[in-house]
Amino acid sequence: MCIRSGVLVITSKVKKLFSTISKLLKSLNFRLFVTLLVIGVMPAAIVSNVFLNTYYERAIAVRTTDVQNQCKIISNQIVASDYLQNNKSDTIQGELSLISSHYDGRIMIIDQDLRVITDTYNMEASKTMIVEEVIRCFKTGTSVHMVSGRFIEVAVPIQRVVDETAGTTETLGVILVSASLDAITDNKEVLYDSVSLILTIALIVMVLIAAILSIAFVHPFKRLTKRINAVNAEHMEEEVHENSYVETEQIAEAFNQQRAKSKLLDESRQEFVSNVSHELKTPLTSMKVLADSLIQMPDAPVEFYREFMEDISAEIDRENAIIADLLTMVKLDKTQAEINIQSQNINELLELILKRLKPIAAKQNVEIVFESFREVIAEVDEVKLTLALTNFVENAIKYNKENGWVHVSLDADHKYFYVKVTDSGCGIPEEDQEHIFERFYRVDKSHSREIGGTGLGLSIAKNVVLMHRGIIEISSVVDEGTTITVRIPLNYIV
Ligand code: ADP
Repeated sequence: MCIRSGVLVITSKVKKLFSTISKLLKSLNFRLFVTLLVIGVMPAAIVSNVFLNTYYERAIAVRTTDVQNQCKIISNQIVASDYLQNNKSDTIQGELSLISSHYDGRIMIIDQDLRVITDTYNMEASKTMIVEEVIRCFKTGTSVHMVSGRFIEVAVPIQRVVDETAGTTETLGVILVSASLDAITDNKEVLYDSVSLILTIALIVMVLIAAILSIAFVHPFKRLTKRINAVNAEHMEEEVHENSYVETEQIAEAFNQQRAKSKLLDESRQEFVSNVSHELKTPLTSMKVLADSLIQMPDAPVEFYREFMEDISAEIDRENAIIADLLTMVKLDKTQAEINIQSQNINELLELILKRLKPIAAKQNVEIVFESFREVIAEVDEVKLTLALTNFVENAIKYNKENGWVHVSLDADHKYFYVKVTDSGCGIPEEDQEHIFERFYRVDKSHSREIGGTGLGLSIAKNVVLMHRGIIEISSVVDEGTTITVRIPLNYIV
């Protein structure tokens, strides 16, 4: 148990460490720091490296040319004194040892038979020397050089002019010099140490600068986050502003807009809740009044009781209707994303709706006429659209007069279909027309109550039409009638 809990503690510590590291790697602060550091240090490191290499190559080139020039002078002397034949010249010997000690190296003079005539180290004299540079030098008649480790090998031809006018020469031998590069390499190392020191100091300075700059650059974002958190935590009303960068300004602006939106949403939710409570309370209050009246009249005649009970029953129906509409609305809100689109014959859909509503219309002696200009097939959610269209036609019947009429028409063009519901009813005053789609809005509350309205039907219907990317238009004249036109795309727009 103890071990288990120990293992658990270690695992959670490792997890914590990992999350801290991943947070650090993801942070803008860290990324800026690394970027600044790389930008600051990389060029310096590259330049130093290039500088050191250039110095080294240049120093070797100078040394090579130097050696070649010295060898050419000696080569001329060798030819002039016929040194290759008699091998005797104190001047040449002296100069050879001078150059050899100057370049801290070795000089050999090799004849045409690749035999070593002179070796300043006295090791290879009289031996045959088969070295690549020497052979190439004989073949090409030009100087050859090669860097090997801490030495440079230079082979210079010893040439005699055969025909001055034609410029032809004969290679009689080769001077092979092995010059030490120690001085150059040592210089390079000294330079390398100095450059490394400078780079280390630059790195330390850059770390400090990068740290300071990255903290300074990110600070406005941190300030903004702090401000947003404070505003959220304390439910402050004031807006957030951070104008250090265009980006922080944009974030603050987006936050303010979002807050304004949620505030509006909150207000409308509160208003909705208070409306719902009020609407649900009204029938209950009526029932209570009716029931109390009956209690206070113990000797009331039966007819009286019947009348009151009928009123109570009507109030219960009303309460039921409100609850049913509320449930539909909540369901619609919830399933907004779950719209079930299918190809549907709108003519058949409308005929079915009208068939269902005909008995209600007949009760009021309202005639329903359906006119279809063409067959319309559209992509719709059958259940939701039926709900909306039923509402329009039901309202046209409900708010009609005795012996009135309702005219329903269906038409389409290449993009949309149109359903028009016209009635000969009481009409809607102009000032109310823009509000009738609001929840619980009723033009004439008492009349609407009489005919069983809840004020939710059009709000639900509008929701459905909007879900289908459609629009609703209304035109109405008081005491003449109302026309509601719905336009919905034939093909559902996702
Ligand atoms: P209700 O359940 O009260 O009918 P609606 O949301 O369907 O609620 O309608 C809102 C209000 O709009 C109704 O109370 C009514 O006053 C008015 N209204 C809707 N349709 C018509 C119509 N065709 N003719 C006259 N008034 C209408």
